Amino acid sequence: MAVREILIHPDERLMQVSRPVTFPLDAEVKQLIRDMADTMYDAPGVGLAAPQIGVLLRVAVTDTVWRDKEVRHDDGLPGGQRELKVWINPEFLWKSDVLATWEEGCLSVPETYGDVSRPEAVRLRWFDEHGVQHEQEFDGFQAVALQHEFDHLDGKLFISYLSPLKRKMITNRMKKLYKGQI
Ligand SMILES: [Zn+2]
Repeated sequence: MAVREILIHPDERLMQVSRPVTFPLDAEVKQLIRDMADTMYDAPGVGLAAPQIGVLLRVAVTDTVWRDKEVRHDDGLPGGQRELKVWINPEFLWKSDVLATWEEGCLSVPETYGDVSRPEAVRLRWFDEHGVQHEQEFDGFQAVALQHEFDHLDGKLFISYLSPLKRKMITNRMKKLYKGQI
Protein backbone atom coordinates (compact mmCIF):
# COMPACT_ATOMS: atom_id res chain seq x y z
CA MET A 1 0.00 0.00 0.00
CA ALA A 2 1.44 3.31 -1.05
CA VAL A 3 -0.47 6.43 -0.26
CA ARG A 4 0.91 9.40 -2.15
CA GLU A 5 0.64 13.05 -1.24
CA ILE A 6 -2.37 14.86 -2.68
CA LEU A 7 -1.58 18.27 -4.14
CA ILE A 8 -3.60 21.19 -2.83
CA HIS A 9 -4.93 24.09 -4.91
CA PRO A 10 -3.33 26.39 -6.09
CA ASP A 11 -0.48 24.01 -6.95
CA GLU A 12 0.64 24.69 -10.54
CA ARG A 13 0.54 20.99 -11.46
CA LEU A 14 -3.24 20.94 -10.93
CA MET A 15 -3.60 23.45 -13.76
CA GLN A 16 -1.70 21.49 -16.42
CA VAL A 17 -3.14 19.45 -19.28
CA SER A 18 -2.15 15.79 -18.85
CA ARG A 19 -0.87 13.62 -21.70
CA PRO A 20 -2.37 10.33 -22.90
CA VAL A 21 -1.16 7.01 -21.56
CA THR A 22 0.41 4.57 -24.04
CA PHE A 23 -0.28 0.84 -24.08
CA PRO A 24 0.87 -1.65 -23.00
CA LEU A 25 1.14 -0.09 -19.56
CA ASP A 26 4.64 -0.07 -18.14
CA ALA A 27 5.44 -1.04 -14.55
CA GLU A 28 5.48 2.59 -13.49
CA VAL A 29 1.93 3.27 -14.69
CA LYS A 30 0.66 0.02 -13.13
CA GLN A 31 2.16 1.11 -9.83
CA LEU A 32 0.69 4.58 -10.30
CA ILE A 33 -2.81 3.09 -10.65
CA ARG A 34 -2.40 0.98 -7.48
CA ASP A 35 -1.10 4.00 -5.58
CA MET A 36 -3.96 6.18 -6.83
CA ALA A 37 -6.49 3.64 -5.51
CA ASP A 38 -4.69 3.44 -2.15
CA THR A 39 -4.55 7.24 -1.95
CA MET A 40 -8.24 7.64 -2.84
CA TYR A 41 -9.43 5.06 -0.27
CA ASP A 42 -7.12 6.49 2.36
CA ALA A 43 -8.28 10.09 1.88
CA PRO A 44 -11.17 8.99 1.76
CA GLY A 45 -12.62 10.11 -1.55
CA VAL A 46 -14.80 8.82 -4.39
CA GLY A 47 -12.38 9.81 -7.14
CA LEU A 48 -8.79 10.79 -7.83
CA ALA A 49 -7.04 11.91 -10.99
CA ALA A 50 -3.30 11.40 -11.60
CA PRO A 51 -2.47 15.15 -11.67
CA GLN A 52 -3.74 15.34 -8.08
CA ILE A 53 -0.66 13.37 -7.05
CA GLY A 54 1.55 15.27 -9.46
CA VAL A 55 1.59 12.82 -12.38
CA LEU A 56 0.45 14.44 -15.61
CA LEU A 57 -1.11 11.39 -17.27
CA ARG A 58 -4.71 10.89 -18.39
CA VAL A 59 -5.68 8.39 -15.69
CA ALA A 60 -8.35 8.58 -13.01
CA VAL A 61 -9.79 6.17 -10.47
CA THR A 62 -13.26 6.31 -8.99
CA ASP A 63 -15.35 4.32 -6.60
CA THR A 64 -18.81 5.72 -6.28
CA VAL A 65 -20.02 2.59 -4.45
CA TRP A 66 -17.42 2.44 -1.70
CA ARG A 67 -18.32 3.85 1.66
CA ASP A 68 -16.02 4.40 4.58
CA LYS A 69 -16.96 1.63 6.96
CA GLU A 70 -16.76 4.10 9.84
CA VAL A 71 -19.49 6.16 8.27
CA ARG A 72 -23.13 5.15 8.35
CA HIS A 73 -25.11 5.73 5.20
CA ASP A 74 -28.81 5.64 4.59
CA ASP A 75 -28.61 3.94 1.20
CA GLY A 76 -28.40 0.46 2.68
CA LEU A 77 -24.98 -0.36 1.21
CA PRO A 78 -22.79 -2.39 3.50
CA GLY A 79 -19.82 -0.41 4.77
CA GLY A 80 -16.53 -1.17 3.09
CA GLN A 81 -18.03 -2.47 -0.17
CA ARG A 82 -15.74 -1.51 -3.04
CA GLU A 83 -16.04 -1.08 -6.76
CA LEU A 84 -12.83 0.39 -8.09
CA LYS A 85 -12.94 1.72 -11.64
CA VAL A 86 -9.90 2.75 -13.62
CA TRP A 87 -10.30 5.26 -16.45
CA ILE A 88 -7.48 5.69 -18.94
CA ASN A 89 -7.52 8.23 -21.81
CA PRO A 90 -11.25 8.93 -21.30
CA GLU A 91 -13.13 10.78 -24.01
CA PHE A 92 -16.66 12.17 -23.97
CA LEU A 93 -18.62 11.08 -27.04
CA TRP A 94 -21.77 12.90 -26.01
CA LYS A 95 -23.09 15.12 -23.23
CA SER A 96 -26.76 15.78 -22.54
CA ASP A 97 -28.18 19.28 -23.02
CA VAL A 98 -30.04 18.87 -19.76
CA LEU A 99 -27.98 19.98 -16.80
CA ALA A 100 -28.06 18.79 -13.22
CA THR A 101 -26.72 20.63 -10.20
CA TRP A 102 -24.80 18.80 -7.50
CA GLU A 103 -22.74 19.99 -4.59
CA GLU A 104 -19.13 19.10 -5.35
CA GLY A 105 -15.98 18.86 -3.32
CA CYS A 106 -12.41 17.87 -4.16
CA LEU A 107 -9.49 16.27 -2.32
CA SER A 108 -7.30 19.03 -3.76
CA VAL A 109 -9.54 21.74 -2.31
CA PRO A 110 -10.16 20.35 1.19
CA GLU A 111 -13.29 21.14 3.16
CA THR A 112 -14.71 23.26 0.37
CA TYR A 113 -18.01 22.63 -1.37
CA GLY A 114 -19.95 24.37 -4.09
CA ASP A 115 -22.91 23.83 -6.41
CA VAL A 116 -21.87 22.99 -9.95
CA SER A 117 -24.16 22.47 -12.96
CA ARG A 118 -23.06 19.91 -15.52
CA PRO A 119 -24.68 17.75 -18.21
CA GLU A 120 -26.73 15.18 -16.31
CA ALA A 121 -25.78 12.33 -18.64
CA VAL A 122 -22.65 11.57 -20.68
CA ARG A 123 -21.49 8.92 -23.11
CA LEU A 124 -17.90 7.92 -22.66
CA ARG A 125 -15.12 5.96 -24.31
CA TRP A 126 -12.14 4.87 -22.24
CA PHE A 127 -9.58 2.15 -21.68
CA ASP A 128 -9.35 0.07 -18.52
CA GLU A 129 -6.15 -1.04 -16.79
CA HIS A 130 -5.97 -4.12 -19.06
CA GLY A 131 -5.98 -2.00 -22.20
CA VAL A 132 -9.55 -2.94 -23.11
CA GLN A 133 -11.63 -0.18 -24.70
CA HIS A 134 -15.13 0.50 -23.36
CA GLU A 135 -18.06 2.69 -24.30
CA GLN A 136 -20.93 3.40 -21.94
CA GLU A 137 -23.46 5.99 -20.89
CA PHE A 138 -23.57 7.32 -17.35
CA ASP A 139 -25.95 9.55 -15.44
CA GLY A 140 -26.61 10.67 -11.89
CA PHE A 141 -23.76 10.82 -9.43
CA GLN A 142 -21.44 8.77 -11.66
CA ALA A 143 -21.79 11.27 -14.50
CA VAL A 144 -20.93 14.10 -12.12
CA ALA A 145 -17.97 12.27 -10.60
CA LEU A 146 -16.54 11.36 -14.01
CA GLN A 147 -16.85 14.88 -15.40
CA HIS A 148 -15.21 16.23 -12.25
CA GLU A 149 -12.31 13.76 -12.47
CA PHE A 150 -11.73 14.20 -16.19
CA ASP A 151 -11.68 18.00 -15.76
CA HIS A 152 -8.56 17.38 -13.67
CA LEU A 153 -6.91 15.86 -16.74
CA ASP A 154 -7.38 19.19 -18.49
CA GLY A 155 -6.11 21.21 -15.55
CA LYS A 156 -9.55 22.31 -14.41
CA LEU A 157 -10.96 22.29 -10.88
CA PHE A 158 -14.63 22.42 -9.87
CA ILE A 159 -14.09 25.86 -8.35
CA SER A 160 -13.60 27.25 -11.86
CA TYR A 161 -17.41 26.90 -12.23
CA LEU A 162 -18.00 29.14 -9.20
CA SER A 163 -18.12 32.93 -9.26
CA PRO A 164 -14.74 34.73 -9.48
CA LEU A 165 -15.28 36.19 -6.02
CA LYS A 166 -15.99 32.82 -4.43
CA ARG A 167 -13.04 31.31 -6.24
CA LYS A 168 -10.73 34.02 -4.96
CA MET A 169 -11.96 33.53 -1.40
CA ILE A 170 -11.36 29.77 -1.66
CA THR A 171 -7.88 30.25 -3.13
CA ASN A 172 -6.94 32.69 -0.37
CA ARG A 173 -8.23 30.32 2.28
CA MET A 174 -6.22 27.43 0.85
CA LYS A 175 -3.07 29.58 0.75
CA LYS A 176 -3.59 30.50 4.40
CA LEU A 177 -4.49 26.98 5.59
CA TYR A 178 -1.68 25.25 3.71
CA LYS A 179 0.97 27.91 4.13
CA GLY A 180 4.40 26.42 3.66
CA GLN A 181 2.99 23.28 2.01
CA ILE A 182 2.00 24.77 -1.34
ZN1 LIG B 1 -11.23 16.81 -7.69
